[in-house]
Amino acid sequence: MLKEHDAYERELDVINPATEKLIGSVRAASPADVDAAVARATRAQAEWAALAPADRARLLRRFASRVDITTEALARMEVQEAGHPIGNARWEAGNFRDLLDYCAGGVERLTGSQIPVADGVNLTFAEPLGVVAVIAPWNFPMPIAAWGVAPALAAGNAVLLKPAETTPYTSKRLAELALDAGLPEGLFQVLPGEGPVAGNALVEHPGVAKVVFTGSTAVGKRIMAQCAARVKRVTLELGGKSPNIVFADADLEQAAAAAPASFLDNTGQDCCARSRILVQRSAYDRFLELLEPAVRGFAVGDPADEDTQMGPLISAAQRERVRAYVPEEAPALIRGSAPDGPGFWYPATVLEGVPGDRTTVEEIFGPVAVVIPFEDEADAVRLANDTEYGLAGSLWTRDAARALRVSRAVRAGNLSVNSHSAVRYATPFGGYKQSGLGRELGPDALAAFTETKNVFISTVSNAA
Ligand code: NAD
Repeated sequence: MLKEHDAYERELDVINPATEKLIGSVRAASPADVDAAVARATRAQAEWAALAPADRARLLRRFASRVDITTEALARMEVQEAGHPIGNARWEAGNFRDLLDYCAGGVERLTGSQIPVADGVNLTFAEPLGVVAVIAPWNFPMPIAAWGVAPALAAGNAVLLKPAETTPYTSKRLAELALDAGLPEGLFQVLPGEGPVAGNALVEHPGVAKVVFTGSTAVGKRIMAQCAARVKRVTLELGGKSPNIVFADADLEQAAAAAPASFLDNTGQDCCARSRILVQRSAYDRFLELLEPAVRGFAVGDPADEDTQMGPLISAAQRERVRAYVPEEAPALIRGSAPDGPGFWYPATVLEGVPGDRTTVEEIFGPVAVVIPFEDEADAVRLANDTEYGLAGSLWTRDAARALRVSRAVRAGNLSVNSHSAVRYATPFGGYKQSGLGRELGPDALAAFTETKNVFISTVSNAA
């Protein structure tokens, strides 16, 4: 609670979403804490950038190996604070490790270039930006933090990570592991705190050179405007309403078996959730027949159980948000079950898509999909693009030429054919339209955290 005096003092309660029990409380960072953190990070960054690239790479690999041996503990922490199924949580901790390893490999390859010019030598340098702020959401606390933290550190920057209010613990642990690994004190700091306070202070701070924000489109737009006022660098990963396009010539059994995970993984709290299932009319009835048992068979329950595929929503507020779109008693084509008792449970739900309805247009961020029939390829592309978002999309067909045509025609950053896989650390990820700005991951991940400096050296002789 905010106390009745000038100093900002607030504790953030962390609740286990599967039990509604309090796990603990962390102190929220104040604007003064942000000031102090930026000053420490600025000092640490100078030390870090002066290290030999091979030494920076070695320290990042050592950090990765600390994360590796702590995978199980980090995953258990994620189960507790985010309600993620343990199998998914292990993947999330592994993703942080993989990003550190992958980006460590880039440190010595950040080479700059020599460009042929007249009368001299022209060199380009890839220089670090300085201090980078990473503002993360609660839906994938470790991976999304990793996508900013690892390449920013590898490119020679310091990082201040602000995790979401509800999920601070894994991030705090990761900062401890960085120190254990020998990274300079202050180089990677975690500032648990409230978005409008600590988050806002980071965005506004003149000592922060770049903001990497992942979260809602509304907050992203606000942050982009604030960054514009200072011409501050910004990467945005925002919302989505991604299509899953099933053509009649597809392997329908395979498409139906894969569909539930594409909108139920992480209880639908996934920016890439394929929450608009577009099915060619001639295959519509058969596809729904196949989809129903697949959705009902998706294992919902205790996230600590090895067999669980779907846990609870993150919070009571998130469940209210999902209920405001679709109350549990609303008519549905398919509805799964959800445990009784404590926990922010919500059943898997498949609705008939109504053109223009908010369930068809807006991101629900819960385990809800709409199904919409289409006539032909042109109709499928039109429907797929009929959204302000453009993050991801899948399409199912046996026709290779169509797969490529439709992939190119859909205005989204990450398309998958006969698959829902969108995130691999070695390939670029990001959104078209209102799903974001810039790309993360992939071969150019480090470049997003550098400035290019051009130096021209004259070779014209002064000799008379
Ligand atoms: P959110 O925008 O409310 O919060 C995200 C982060 O921003 C949190 O750390 C929060 O504290 C901080 N924040 C909030 N207000 C702020 C402000 N005024 N200034 C600075 N920081 C502020 O989003 P959320 O509810 O935590 O996450 C859900 C949303 O995130 C969904 O809409 C989802 O689509 C999106 N998301 C997108 C991606 C992606 O990669 N594109 C990934 C995950 C989540």
